[in-house]
Amino acid sequence: MKVIVLGAGVVGVTTAYYLARDGHQVTIVDRNQGAALEASYANGGQLSYSYVAPLADPGVWPKLVPWLLSSTSPVRYRPQLDPHQWRWCLQFLAACSSVRSAETTRHLLRLGHASRRLMHELLGEEPELDFAWANSGKLVVYRDAASLAAARRQVEFQQRLAGDSEHSQEVLDAAACIAIEPALDSLRREIVGGVHTPSEDSADCYRFTVGLLDRIRAASPDNRCLFDTVIHGLRVSQDEVVGVETSAGLLEADAYVLASGCDSARLARPLGVALPIYPLKGYSLTAPIADPDAAPRLSVTDFQRKIVYAVIDGKLRVAGIADIGGYHRTIVPARVATLLAEAGAAFPGAMDEQQVEAWAGLRPATPSGRPILGHSTCRRLWLNVGHGALGFTLSLASGRALADLIAEQAPFVSLDGFTLPRATSRKAGHP
Ligand SMILES: Cc1cc2nc3c(=O)[nH]c(=O)nc-3n(C[C@H](O)[C@H](O)[C@H](O)COP(=O)(O)OP(=O)(O)OC[C@H]3O[C@@H](n4cnc5c(N)ncnc54)[C@H](O)[C@@H]3O)c2cc1C
Repeated sequence: MKVIVLGAGVVGVTTAYYLARDGHQVTIVDRNQGAALEASYANGGQLSYSYVAPLADPGVWPKLVPWLLSSTSPVRYRPQLDPHQWRWCLQFLAACSSVRSAETTRHLLRLGHASRRLMHELLGEEPELDFAWANSGKLVVYRDAASLAAARRQVEFQQRLAGDSEHSQEVLDAAACIAIEPALDSLRREIVGGVHTPSEDSADCYRFTVGLLDRIRAASPDNRCLFDTVIHGLRVSQDEVVGVETSAGLLEADAYVLASGCDSARLARPLGVALPIYPLKGYSLTAPIADPDAAPRLSVTDFQRKIVYAVIDGKLRVAGIADIGGYHRTIVPARVATLLAEAGAAFPGAMDEQQVEAWAGLRPATPSGRPILGHSTCRRLWLNVGHGALGFTLSLASGRALADLIAEQAPFVSLDGFTLPRATSRKAGHP
């Protein structure tokens, strides 16, 4: 079968990788000069298979005022003249209930654990894939007792769901956190405890994506990458996608996979497919390590500040911030300064501040935090979109499941909770 994948981020490329492995002829289309140059470029590098709790949870309600008013809070809302933004925000608030949050966690854990299994298989199958993968383990630290108590309840909930010890998580007090991560010493008076998950990994998402793309090209000369090619829209005839209109002309195939990150909603809208995806703009800093003893060995997440720290290939990567305010990827110096100040306070002296590379990217987020996977309501169009803060983590399971569906097989992991509700579309008919 000929399949066109729309978007060469980590999600599109992992899907294309599994499609190529299944023997399909794959064409990947992207407006950039190469793969993974948007949200998948310098993200936090966390393969966070077991720590999947969504942003939308009841803990959001008391934080709403600071999000609206403070210029340094980790999440900021800036209203736009865009009904899509307001609708997304209302849907986000509706998802901030303990029932919805628990339901999302349950579904995401299933996908996260499936991704972990696939990642470990892939490491065996593609030993030359070099993307700074490490089984770093993850320590999430908390700065107040109420958050730590909620984290303890979350760990107990997840243990009941997972029902095995493979992905065990341990709740630690502050002293135990510092014992396993001595570089946290400067936060000794700030943190009250943490959750340690030894089975979590970290890696470089950009190198992972580019490496997989090389495998796709090597698999068959028929597999193609069309870079510097803008997708203008999808051509539809009688509820069936029949082509992609691009700056390189009309491209035709037997099936089409939408994996265009934040632009997916705009591309799907003319087809009557309403995708609730809005950008959550985040930032990262990458810098050489100035003092190895001051840098973390584990992946560390500062829960209150919503910042993640990981050492990737000898450099410290610091990532965080979620600004709800449009589609611009401009780097705002004040937001970089917030991240630098937090990193300097958490791990003083760890990074070489003269050589910091700042980056901003747009997380393609759904209100609930669940990606949208599987059939669309137009025949031949498949969806792999809306991975929000977990796109690197979930890309393998999403990509494999999409390839299974395109091969007309049951997906290897249940997509219950991820498929598009029929009510979001005006059109009927399925692939
Ligand atoms: C600061 C930050 C930190 C993060 N940390 C982590 C983390 O630690 N772990 C984790 O799992 N996830 C993390 N994420 C989330 C993760 O990076 C994203 O979920 C993931 O990269 C989304 O991948 P994607 O392929 O869907 O989108 P993208 O990588 O944005 O890819 C979409 C592609 O589609 C192309 N495209 C779109 N529209 C068009 C068009 N009209 N024509 C042609 N091409 C088009 C774009 O050029 C782009 O290449 C983080 C994100 C950010 C911003």
